[in-house]
Amino acid sequence: VQAAFRSDLARLLELIGTGKESLSFMKKRIRHLAQQWLLAARRLEQKLKAQQRDQKHILIHIGFLTEESGDVFSPRVLKGGPLGEMVQWADILAALFLLGHSLRVTVSLKELQSHLGVPPGRGNCPLTNPLPFDLIYTDYHGLQQMKQHMGLSFKKYRCRVRVIDTFGTEPAYNHEEYATLRGYRTNWGYWNLQPTQFMTMFPHTPDNSFMGFVSEELNKTEKQFIKSNKVSSMAVVYGKEASIWKVGGKEKFLTILNKYMEIHGTVYYETQRPPEVPAFVKNHGLLPQHEFQQLLRKAKLFIGFGFPYEGPAPLEAIANGCVFLQARFNPPHSSLNHEFFRGKPTSREASLATTVPGHQAQGENKAVPSCCLCSALLPSQVDPYLPYEYTCEGMLERIHAYIQHQDFCTTSSPPLPPKAKSPAMQSPSSPLALSPNATHLVWSPSASRDPHAWPPVDSLQVWVSETRHACTETCRRHGLVCEPTFFRFLNKKEVFLQLSITCDSTEYEMNHLYPAVAENVHECYLQKEPLLFSCAGYNTKYRRLCPCRDYRKGQVALCRDCL
Ligand code: UDP
Repeated sequence: VQAAFRSDLARLLELIGTGKESLSFMKKRIRHLAQQWLLAARRLEQKLKAQQRDQKHILIHIGFLTEESGDVFSPRVLKGGPLGEMVQWADILAALFLLGHSLRVTVSLKELQSHLGVPPGRGNCPLTNPLPFDLIYTDYHGLQQMKQHMGLSFKKYRCRVRVIDTFGTEPAYNHEEYATLRGYRTNWGYWNLQPTQFMTMFPHTPDNSFMGFVSEELNKTEKQFIKSNKVSSMAVVYGKEASIWKVGGKEKFLTILNKYMEIHGTVYYETQRPPEVPAFVKNHGLLPQHEFQQLLRKAKLFIGFGFPYEGPAPLEAIANGCVFLQARFNPPHSSLNHEFFRGKPTSREASLATTVPGHQAQGENKAVPSCCLCSALLPSQVDPYLPYEYTCEGMLERIHAYIQHQDFCTTSSPPLPPKAKSPAMQSPSSPLALSPNATHLVWSPSASRDPHAWPPVDSLQVWVSETRHACTETCRRHGLVCEPTFFRFLNKKEVFLQLSITCDSTEYEMNHLYPAVAENVHECYLQKEPLLFSCAGYNTKYRRLCPCRDYRKGQVALCRDCL
């Protein structure tokens, strides 16, 4: 059956069901954005013309909303609890539905079991019938539940799973044996999935697929209207929970800022004003999402206290013409030094910078004196800005491409077409389609390529990293992004030669930084375990071989020829 773009969201709202505050929040969001979604679907439909798309049977199991995993989120929806995850799930549901796929949505273990075909009362046994879904979108909680209730079938079907994973899971934490050996201890890792099966909220590491979410898009008239109706002396503070106001020095900072600007907050409270919020702050309490957008439309400045580190709100602020000012951490916060990141399967370092052009604050506390200059430094007019990848069309386009091209169930074809020959080849005994280009290697134009490989290999460029840089950073510095699926093309002895790297010895080992060279001792290393290919990670001992690719403007997840 072919998938046909849908032109109405009513059926989706029914599918989502009732009975939880979190579900009501998601439905309200989908209703509010419905016009934008429908318009975006029409645009993408035109763009894709008559491209053939199979209709997929998709199970969406939102594990963190099940009673069995505690569902701590639903009761806090109206009380200042986290909403980012629900924003993202609502958008994923809308996108999958509009693309024309057949969906089942579950938020309880019982429904999960019945959809999977687990007979009642029989837990950990293989499924008796074939799994009726081509794809399953879930989260870490859901993954655990599926493993527990599918027995051996879990292993068989796990290639169909996509894990919505807010913070991301780096390969070193995903590989059970390696993570255990190396002490990459986490509360979440060790699943041995293909790292791109994890789908993140932000494009932090390309080791995972960037799923994202959307923010409301403004047309020209709306943008103009917002710009001319800004209250120039109005600032809004980022964060819905009173606790974020407590930590050191904030009152002093706000007192100074208050001389220049009127400060607003949206901190949840029950009956009394939260004592953490200074009296001069105009606190609106937690606002419904669309009223929060209205507040951002009037404000000139959105202020982060450093925590929350990130979330949908700053993007919405920028989309509504605010400047977002966030504290910068020096040293950066990571799983090694900060409670929030502890146990999360990522080595990411949050350092964060201000987005006031030309203005750099140094460290959380030192931001105070420089920040009282904010009002003077603020540009008189800021254009509302929303990158394409966070529009409804951008998200639809990305999910469409993933569904169309990502296949973790068929074992991949041999890395190189065996007969490819290139004139620049240096090692005739083993043909290689990469050719040297002064400082880096590019895919040889004369080489044939696998038409099914995705992303297409001709977008590949191989760069050697500095010792203090991960491949993510190395590619970024060349205006490219790291593409983990390309590691297999450069995990070869000849590539060192082509890059004029001298190897006294070359060994295959398990290490998420390989392929790499320890330059001073001329030791070269290749990767023994493909699951460990990783864009993230660096060690001052090594220069890494990095697979970089181009990307579409405003859509980093996709290369130029990726659609
Ligand atoms: N939000 C809201 N009411 C408010 C403040 C924020 O509905 O008073 C919404 C906001 O529009 C955003 C969502 O909360 O889409 C999540 O924002 P945040 O960045 O705070 O992420 P979280 O920490 O909740 O995951």
